[in-house]
Amino acid sequence: MNGSVTIVGAGIGGLTLALSLQARGVGVTVLERAGELREVGAAVALSANGLRFMDELGLLGELEEVSAQPTELIHRDWRDGRRVTAFPVGIDGSYRRRFGAPYLGIHRAEFQRVLACACPEGMIRLASEVVDVESGADGATVTLASGERVHGSVVVGADGVHSRVRSRVAPDARPVYTGTSAFRGIVDVADMPLLPDPGAIQFWMGPDAHVLHYAIGARAEAVNFFAVLEGPTPWPGGAGPTETDPGTLERAFAGWAPGVVQMLTAVPQSPHWPLYTLPPLSRWADGRIVLLGDAAHTMLPHHGQGANQSIEDAVVLADLLARPGALDGGHAGAFDRYQRLRRARTRQIQRSSLVTSDLLHLPEGPAATARDERLAGLDPWLGWIHGVDARADTRPVPA
Ligand SMILES: Cc1cc2nc3c(=O)[nH]c(=O)nc-3n(C[C@H](O)[C@H](O)[C@H](O)COP(=O)(O)OP(=O)(O)OC[C@H]3O[C@@H](n4cnc5c(N)ncnc54)[C@H](O)[C@@H]3O)c2cc1C
Repeated sequence: MNGSVTIVGAGIGGLTLALSLQARGVGVTVLERAGELREVGAAVALSANGLRFMDELGLLGELEEVSAQPTELIHRDWRDGRRVTAFPVGIDGSYRRRFGAPYLGIHRAEFQRVLACACPEGMIRLASEVVDVESGADGATVTLASGERVHGSVVVGADGVHSRVRSRVAPDARPVYTGTSAFRGIVDVADMPLLPDPGAIQFWMGPDAHVLHYAIGARAEAVNFFAVLEGPTPWPGGAGPTETDPGTLERAFAGWAPGVVQMLTAVPQSPHWPLYTLPPLSRWADGRIVLLGDAAHTMLPHHGQGANQSIEDAVVLADLLARPGALDGGHAGAFDRYQRLRRARTRQIQRSSLVTSDLLHLPEGPAATARDERLAGLDPWLGWIHGVDARADTRPVPA
């Protein structure tokens, strides 16, 4: 096959795309700004709609060895800890039976390690910050901070929420601060005896705030939490996380159930993260440049779908770019199809994540009671998210 693909960003989407293309014989170079792949103190929840593709890449077994599968999905009241809803996940294998893959909590760095180790030597170039990208008649060229230029048939911007590549495709697009912010942390289960069901994935819902947590590690020995607050508005810092007064998190969650307070205060307060959403882009590609993952559709993480949608983007784009002729002048058709297949779905999940943010933060009263009653009757897994096969229209038919 002729042609090669330059991927900007060795995050979850960029690495999944690299592996999917490489498996089909397409030449790939991944350029990553960071000097090493490791995000300390963070985790990610991977759902079946993403993990089914990790299975196709032959990586699911390895991922399961270093991950925890939640026992149940539970929604709780913020103050008295009452179970509002509870649905089995791993406890009876029902999630996997329904969706054909498990639900896993994993250290982000472990996930990136598994993906990166599966890439051939030399495919990922670390400490390679891309500062510019240009599309030409016979290919696309990126310029690195060092001044070096790297040429390929097409360039994929998988460079995250504050994407540099996006400024070439959609110069006016900016991620918008949602007016909500978060603290995160990883706590050993042994350090928070008051937390009920640490092996479950749990949402604690309270006025103007919620806490999500799930187990991680091969023996579910730790819990990753994500504590979300309304405000501050406007966001006081720059685009990224800021250091805040050390007592901010503890004060914001004073009066919450003792298990929650014990978990949030068991580790030093993390930086304070602004949460963004990206208004829908009118186009995802320009010439030989195309966007993927957060660069194309940054979303609130309340459906746990940012990473999973990046994986879906990657496998669909790989199917289309691996088709005969796609890198030999056929990129426009491939990009057009990719955008048509991915835009509506990612928009729908973006919108639903925004609505979920408001629902999780309702003040106590009739609206919160109605929400709780509705939650009990809902499909907890939103089958339209976890049950969909993103490759249904692009997977090659076996010969
Ligand atoms: C607090 C929080 C919790 C989350 N929890 C979940 C969850 O449980 N489940 C889930 O599915 N999603 C979750 N998400 C969302 C998820 O993390 C992102 O959607 C996902 O990482 C996006 O993947 P990506 O490949 O598009 O970008 P990223 O994973 O952000 O990767 C982008 C990469 O590009 C590199 N880069 C950036 N600029 C350049 C440049 N100029 N040159 C070279 N390299 C560059 C970066 O260093 C990075 O490695 C969460 C997000 C947040 C903020």
